[in-house]
Order: sequence, then structure tokens, then C-alpha cells
Amino acid sequence: MSPMFVPGPVDVSPDVLQQQTKAMMPHRSKDFEAIFQRSAEKLKQIFYTQYRIFIMTNSGSGAQESAIRNLSKERVLNCVNGSFAKRWYDVSIANGKLADKIEVPMGQAILPGMVEEALKKEKYDLITIVHNETSTGVENPVKEIAEVVQRVSPDTLIAVDAVSSLGGTKIEMDAWGLDVLFTSSQKCLALPPGIAMIAVNDRAMARAAEVPYRGWYFDYLLLEKHRVKDSTPMTPAMSLIYALDFQIDRMLAEGLDNRFARHSGMAKYSQEWATKKGWALFAPEGYRSQTITVVVNPPTFDCAEFNKFIAPRNLRLANGYGDMKGKTFRIAHMAEIQMNDLENLLSSIDEFMLGK
Ligand code: PLP
Repeated sequence: MSPMFVPGPVDVSPDVLQQQTKAMMPHRSKDFEAIFQRSAEKLKQIFYTQYRIFIMTNSGSGAQESAIRNLSKERVLNCVNGSFAKRWYDVSIANGKLADKIEVPMGQAILPGMVEEALKKEKYDLITIVHNETSTGVENPVKEIAEVVQRVSPDTLIAVDAVSSLGGTKIEMDAWGLDVLFTSSQKCLALPPGIAMIAVNDRAMARAAEVPYRGWYFDYLLLEKHRVKDSTPMTPAMSLIYALDFQIDRMLAEGLDNRFARHSGMAKYSQEWATKKGWALFAPEGYRSQTITVVVNPPTFDCAEFNKFIAPRNLRLANGYGDMKGKTFRIAHMAEIQMNDLENLLSSIDEFMLGK
């Protein structure tokens, strides 16, 4: 496998890819329902939850939309500190919700005090937070923010997007008091794109029951009606679920704590490497992602040029996202990436810069 240091779709192990070639079967059959049931059950370990997990046939953005459609009756507060958090605000507006945002510049974190202030000014039935902002490499202090929400406004539900961190970083849904937590397949779970997994607690289900016009495809009540029969209302992406079932076993065999330590070890290594070179990290200390390190471009570094340089080595690095393109570069050290892959990439950057 040739490692791509991009934040999804990531490299998928060949034996996981192979699972997708298994024969189809009726999705409403005992055999498929068994695979679906055990995949959802095993996922609970990775989400640190006792609640239900819906496996949805859509990408992470669909999970964002589902939270807005099901959980907000009146007014939603979107925490915005990067492109994906901004997308969630756009989703709120597109669904006709009254939405306010707490907004900080790209590269900054949302702090608990900001949330406290906003919740004291206005009543919100839902707050949305992106745990790991893939566009900037900032990890928001979700546990501390959740504590504030529970203290200041206990009826406000907390929905967390962990699309680029869940499975690479420990996020304890139940212990932290998160109501909804989701990821999609193509990032830390190291699967091809196409499915999202969303954990929804009982409080969130009770809210959904009170919200009219939740739509159909993302309706949590409809999904639940079928989930209890180990099924889905619509035809699921069965090949991906074969791969998911297999991949969760691989992840559990690695050991979740070992997996988290592998990711945090690579984050530390990348941060120290950049700092030693005098290159600035985009995220402030204390709020740095464990799965993606974002570095401010030194004047002589051009990501596109570097990717041409490393193409023969079958490596690939991610440019800055959106407005940050050409201003930062992103080292995604997630999923199947190992420390020796990372060392190889960083020494290639060192080599590339020798001639500069
Ligand atoms: N949220 C975050 C943090 C992301 O990084 C992404 C995609 O990169 C998304 C949401 C959107 O996910 P998808 O592309 O699976 O719709």
C-alpha cells in the first residue's frame, strides 16, 4: 500500500477492500441482518456508548443534516471554527432553522467560556460542535464544552461531528454526556467512502419524537423502527457493511488504546518535526488534532510542487483546505498510517527543501 497523507478518502487495507467483493444477498435476510446487527453492536465500543448506532448510507454531511432535521425544534447554536463547522451552520439554514453561530477565525478553537456566554443570552434546543476541524487541525475541547452546556442549559442537546477523529482519538460519548456523535467511513475507520455511523442517545430520540417534518431519509424514528429488527428502511450499502464488519475486528485486534496511542504518537512527532524546523503549526498549543497536523507554509514550500516530487515514491500530501489552500499544508496521520510511513514522508519534505 502506498500511503496517502490526506484526510480521506484514506488508504484501505487490501483485505478490507476484498470484503466488498463478497456476493450480494437479500438485505432483508437473516444472514445480512446478523452482519448488520453485530457491526452496530461492535461499533458501540469505538463510540464508548451503550446507545443505538445507526449505520446510514450517506457520507458525513448527511449525518450533519440528520442532526439538524431531528433535533432542532426552535433554535440551533452552531460553533464555527473552520470549513466543516461552517458547513453545519449552512445545513441549519438550508433546513429553514433559526440558527446562530459562535464564530472564531480559522485556526482557533471554540472555548467553553464562549459557549457559556452564548447560552446565557439565548435559549437553544441544540448545539453543534465539530470535534476535529479537518480544515485547520484544531481539536475543540468537546468534553469541557459539554460540561458547560450541561451546567448552563441542560435541555440543550449536544451533537458532535467526529468525522475526522472518531476511531483515531478517544471520544467517550456517554461519559461526556454527548447526545449525538457521528463519523463517516473514509477517515479514521479506514474504509471506502459511502456510509456514516451515528450514535443517538435516548434523550435525542425523545426530542426527535417532538420535532415535526424530520424528512424521511434521515428520520431517526424511522431508522429506529427498522434498527430494532436489525435492518434499515432503505437498501443499505451492503458491500461497505461487509467491509465495516471485518474492519472493526481489525481495529479491536489492534486494541483501541494502542490505536489512539499510535495516532497521538504521530501527532507529537509531526508537531516536533515542524517546530524544530521553525515552521509554525496552525493550531494553538493545547488544541492540536491527534489525527491531522496543519503547518503554515514556509515561503519556499509549495505543496503541489512537493506532490510532484514525491509522486514516484507513491506518497501524497494534502494542501490547505478552502481559503487555506497554498497557505498551509496538512499531514493526515490517520487510519492505516504507521510511524515509519510518517518518518518517510517527513524526511522526503526535508530532502525536497534541501534545494530551496
Ligand atoms: N465533517 C468533517 C470534520 C469533515 O472532515 C468532513 C469531510 O472531510 C465532513 C464533515 C463531511 O464529510 P463527508 O465528506 O463524508 O460528507
